[in-house]
Amino acid sequence: MAAAGANSQLNPLENAKRQFDEAAAKLGLAEGAKEMLKKPRRTTIQHLPVVMDDGSIQVFTGYRCQHSIVRGPAKGGIRFHQDVTIEEVEALASWMTWKCAVADIPFGGGKGGIVVDPRKLSKGELERLTRRYAADLSDIFGPDSDVPAPDVNTGEREMAWFVDTYSMHSRRTEYAVVTGKPLEVGGSAGRREATGRGVMICIEQMCKHLNIPLKGARVAVQGFGNVGGVSADLLVRDCGAMIVAASDVSGAIHNPDGLDVPALLKYVAEKKGVAGFPGSQPLTTSILEYDCDILVPAALENQITAENAANIKAKIIGEGANGPTTPDADKILEAKGCWVIPDILCNSGGVTVSYFEWVQNRMGFYWPEHEVNDRLREKLELAFADVVKVAVREKVSMRVAAYMVAIQRVWRVYELRGMYA
Ligand code: GLU
Repeated sequence: MAAAGANSQLNPLENAKRQFDEAAAKLGLAEGAKEMLKKPRRTTIQHLPVVMDDGSIQVFTGYRCQHSIVRGPAKGGIRFHQDVTIEEVEALASWMTWKCAVADIPFGGGKGGIVVDPRKLSKGELERLTRRYAADLSDIFGPDSDVPAPDVNTGEREMAWFVDTYSMHSRRTEYAVVTGKPLEVGGSAGRREATGRGVMICIEQMCKHLNIPLKGARVAVQGFGNVGGVSADLLVRDCGAMIVAASDVSGAIHNPDGLDVPALLKYVAEKKGVAGFPGSQPLTTSILEYDCDILVPAALENQITAENAANIKAKIIGEGANGPTTPDADKILEAKGCWVIPDILCNSGGVTVSYFEWVQNRMGFYWPEHEVNDRLREKLELAFADVVKVAVREKVSMRVAAYMVAIQRVWRVYELRGMYA
C-alpha cells in the first residue's frame, strides 16, 4: 500500500467517505441519515502479547471494526499486514457493508487487522497470535453477531485456528463463527476460488454489456495471489482471454503473446512469486500502465491514483482488491471512457460464498461445488444487472451506482426497523 500519512488522497477512510458522499448526495439523504450510515458502529483495539520462539514477549496491535450490523451480523475478513491502521480497517469495514448490500446477502460489514508482517513469524508464532486475537474478541464474534473470514495474508489455516479457539471457549464446535475454513473443518466447496470466480463473472458481464469480445482480450493482473491468480485462470480457461502481464511482491513479468497461466500458477506455488517465470520477460514499467484491454488490480489499496490514471490503457478495470482506485483517479478514468467494475461488486464473490458457507454450517448440509458456483453466478448476475440499471438510468459511474444500490438497501432496513431511542 502506498504510504497514506502525508497525502490525504491516499487515506482509505477519506476515500471511502468521498465515495459514500457522492452517492448519498444523489440519493438526497438527510444529513443525520448520512452520518448514521457512514460512522462505524464500533471499533475495538487489542494489544496482543505473544511468546515468541526465542522466549521473548512481543506485543502486537489488532483491530476489529463492526461498521454495520443493521442487515445482519458484521461480516468481513481479518488481514495480517505491517501497514494495517485503524483507519484502513474502518474503511475496509464500510466497504464490506456496501458489498454485502450490493450482493444482497443478509450481513452487515466488518473488518479486522493485525499489524504484523507474517513472513517474519514462524508458524507457531502466527498460530499463537491468531488464537490470542480470536480469544480476546470471543465475546464480540459469533455466528449471529460478527463473522470473520480470510483477507490479505490470512487463509484456511488461520480460519481453522480461529474456529478451534472460539469453539474451545464456547465448549462446543461452532463452525458458523468464521468462513473461509478448510473443507474438512466446515468449509464450503468453491469458497477458495469464489472471489476470483466472481471477478471473472463480473468482467464477463461487463464485456457483454459493452459488446466487447472477451475471447482473445489481453488482461494484466496486479497481485497474482488467491484473487488475481484464480481470476486469471478462469478468464483463460472459461472465457478464452489471454493474460499478458502479472505481478506480485516478487516482481512483475509479461509476455505479449500470452502467459501459460496453469504453468505460472504451479510456478508461483513452488517459488512463492511470479519473478523469473520461464516464458516471460521481467516487466520494468508499471503493470497498471501495461498495454492491455482489461486490468485486474488484485493487490492492495491506492494503486490507481491521480498520478498514473491518465496512463492506463485498459478499457475495463475489474477491481479484485478492495479500494485499489482513489476517487481522483476514478474521475480521470471516467473522463477517458474507462469502465471500472467497483470492488464492492467485482470482488463480492468471496463474501457471497462465505454466506453460503455460513448457511451450510447452520443447516449441517453441504452442497456440491457446482451448486455453489451456480448460486454464485445467479447472485452476481443479479447484482451486476441492478448496478448497471442504475448507472444507465442515473448516468453515473458503476461505482456511484453500486453505492446508490447499497445505501438504499441499508437505509430501507433502518427505516423499517425504526430508531431505538
Ligand atoms: N476479505 C474478503 C473481502 O474483502 C472476504 C470477506 C468475507 O468473506 O467475509 O470481501
